[in-house]
Amino acid sequence: MRFVTFQLDANIEPGVLVGGQIIGLRGAGFESVLAVIEGGADALDRVSRWVRHPLSSELPDMAAVALQAPIPRPPKIICIGLNYRDHAAETKMPIPEVPTVFSKYPTAVTGPGQPIVLPGNSAKPDYEAEFVVVIGKRGRHVRAEDWREYVFGYTMMNDVSARDFQIATSQWMMGKTFDTFAPFGPAIVTADEVPDPQTLEISLTLNGEVMQHSNTSQMIFQVPRLIEFLSSVFTLEPGDIIATGTPAGVGFARTPPVWLRAGDEVTVRVEGLGELTNPVVAEK
Ligand code: ZN
Repeated sequence: MRFVTFQLDANIEPGVLVGGQIIGLRGAGFESVLAVIEGGADALDRVSRWVRHPLSSELPDMAAVALQAPIPRPPKIICIGLNYRDHAAETKMPIPEVPTVFSKYPTAVTGPGQPIVLPGNSAKPDYEAEFVVVIGKRGRHVRAEDWREYVFGYTMMNDVSARDFQIATSQWMMGKTFDTFAPFGPAIVTADEVPDPQTLEISLTLNGEVMQHSNTSQMIFQVPRLIEFLSSVFTLEPGDIIATGTPAGVGFARTPPVWLRAGDEVTVRVEGLGELTNPVVAEK
């Protein structure tokens, strides 16, 4: 199933995408996608029964609907740096032996179709296509071989990055967590629809031009290892999202560099998960 969060008038609701139609989940007793994730297998059963026989009042007019990020305030936004060999090479960094981890605050989240706002105080805003794992179950000290138990599904993010702020200190976070720098979605696709997350094409286009194109098979630390490593330090919780790093082709590594500009349109695509498009605007 494909879970979305949508706004209709003043209401923000969870839903499931079926074909081109959203089926609202209020009537099934869910206030948010996070509530479905926290509800585990029982909640998924309830949703799949509901989706087969929704009330007509749960079929919003698609023209009146605006999608939001599927989880507007994830408990944690965990990001992995330098996780593709080609990207580590283009940044002239050694292949890491331990995952590089940073995070974004929930205020960085924005949804599909919503603008990425370029901060007035950064001269070097950049894009990064990323495959995202959505955690489904609490876990600490998870063994790599048990990783599937802890994954609810998958989505994608544009890990927007202000390179000047990112590299001003050894901690990248300030360059990564400007408001609107974590657009993700459009949907969370449940894990049963993605048999192998390490075989997916991933790409990014800027104004229609392909800037990044790779495959999740190129990840240095793959999903089982990431879940084991992260949970060796902190508890993974339902609704946590892990952005698993970006492949080569980012703007700052190009000659000459390419920075995001007002008027741009950026699209991230991951095979089987749809596409995430955001316009780019200047901060007012
Ligand atoms: Zn990244």
